[in-house]
Amino acid sequence: MPCPPEIILELTARCNHACPFCYCNWHEEGETVPEDLPTSAWRKIIRHCVDAGALVLQFSGGEPLLRKDIGTLVSYARELLPAGGLMLFTNGTLMTPRRFAFLKRKSVIVGTSLPCLATYGAMTGRGRGRERILESIRQAAKSKWAMSVRITGNRTNAFEAVETVLAAAEAGAGAVMVEPAMLCGRAANTPELALERGEWNEIRREVEKLKLPRRMKPNFCDELVCECRDMPRAMRARYGVKDFSCTCGTLFGAVGPDGRYRRCIHLKDALPFPC
Ligand code: SF4
Repeated sequence: MPCPPEIILELTARCNHACPFCYCNWHEEGETVPEDLPTSAWRKIIRHCVDAGALVLQFSGGEPLLRKDIGTLVSYARELLPAGGLMLFTNGTLMTPRRFAFLKRKSVIVGTSLPCLATYGAMTGRGRGRERILESIRQAAKSKWAMSVRITGNRTNAFEAVETVLAAAEAGAGAVMVEPAMLCGRAANTPELALERGEWNEIRREVEKLKLPRRMKPNFCDELVCECRDMPRAMRARYGVKDFSCTCGTLFGAVGPDGRYRRCIHLKDALPFPC
């Protein structure tokens, strides 16, 4: 089996947010949170991914900036992939100008999460912080290394989805992705939060009506449930599964905080690493 060109490296299961919609599979019932692997183990994994043909590495978590060795791992990946794609997805709370400048120097595309505005505390478990994220997005735009922003919709924050997209665009986001919360991870335990197909379509229509500069036109992820997972028929009907062909395992794969390979970030079952 060929190695997918893009590998998501979930460097840690730890996070300083507690988003009720978090898709990280270790939040599912009975799942114990794995300990962080040491730097040496992640260096081996990065080396293995590159040797196996990965062209893009995405650092994520949990919150990857909680790792003290994040700079070491990013530098190592850049050394092995001098012209490859590197990305880092963060909740933004630990981003500092110094860290951002380092990531820019290493040509790492930075993505951040801005789930909402007024409901930011309820949606992240942190009362304050949204202004800080918006300021980070502004500073990134000023430094000509714009951040991409992900907005995850659910029944609590749906009413302000349009305002959140506008706030991200006004702050200077380089790209905006809007997606519905999926029934995985912590969200699997709070299905009442999940949008049904009609509710999601309504948000999508409202966002599409916005007059935004071309480069900030939002991308949409239309998955309400993960196609890779078995779902009861009633649930699939309720959340309106689309005819969708998932590229996991072919275009991308993931290595979890325990160092095991999965073809999809929403799956728990580990597989032998391709190649
Ligand atoms: S969704 Fe992201 S920021 Fe929120 S708890 Fe999960 S890993 Fe942390």
